[in-house]
Amino acid sequence: MIDSHCHFDFPPFTESPETWIERSLAAGVRQLIVPAVSTENWERVATLAEAFPEISYAVGLHPVWMSSHEDADIQKLDTFLADAPKGLVAVGECGLDFAIENADPERQIRLLTEQLKLAEKYQLPVILHSRKAHNELLQLLNDFPKVKGILHAFSGSEQIGREYIKRGFLLGIGGTITYQRANKTRNAVRNLPLSNLVLETDAPDMPVYGYQGEPNLPERLPLIAQALASLKGVNIEKVIHVTTQNSTACFALNV
Ligand SMILES: [Zn+2]
Repeated sequence: MIDSHCHFDFPPFTESPETWIERSLAAGVRQLIVPAVSTENWERVATLAEAFPEISYAVGLHPVWMSSHEDADIQKLDTFLADAPKGLVAVGECGLDFAIENADPERQIRLLTEQLKLAEKYQLPVILHSRKAHNELLQLLNDFPKVKGILHAFSGSEQIGREYIKRGFLLGIGGTITYQRANKTRNAVRNLPLSNLVLETDAPDMPVYGYQGEPNLPERLPLIAQALASLKGVNIEKVIHVTTQNSTACFALNV
């Protein structure tokens, strides 16, 4: 299994990461993709990827950390990507979040546009975050037909999911589907093709059902795989096989 979205540069993983990697491996999670949220994290995730062959990473400017980004960070991102360091597999986490305080949509769209340009320039996939912004995000993606990637933490209608798939994006399926009450997302995921889905925990965020109030962990990915298998009426091996292939192809992983 591949955890296509895990913030392994945040606590509790910063404390003895090797133990958490071992626990992930024991649970069958062989690869983690770690997207960095701001310039401060870029070196941290690069160092993790150097230390652990199980980790690949992405660098980007996350909209929730907007206030800490500077316009000059785009130039820094360009320089970082130009180096093509080992283990770097995507641009992200980036995107639009109109639910935060002082959202400043104009600035968010500008920063994301610049990051999409860099993804195009370096032919890398993007890891996208979207909250209350699907329409604006989909419209922006229309201007970048060559840029593909993952819409992380998919939740919403089947129709919205299909709009991303139409633009060449995979949908990141996380803990949301383990909650019976998440009817809309569960119904959407049931009807969306497995060939366009990838698994993710978003650890330490997005707790899986039964573990509310605790930090989420990559070793809980099998619970999400099982929930997806039940929704789609297939066995878990099939879910693991197809989603692993999807993540491997998207990030061009050598596994
Ligand atoms: Zn994230």
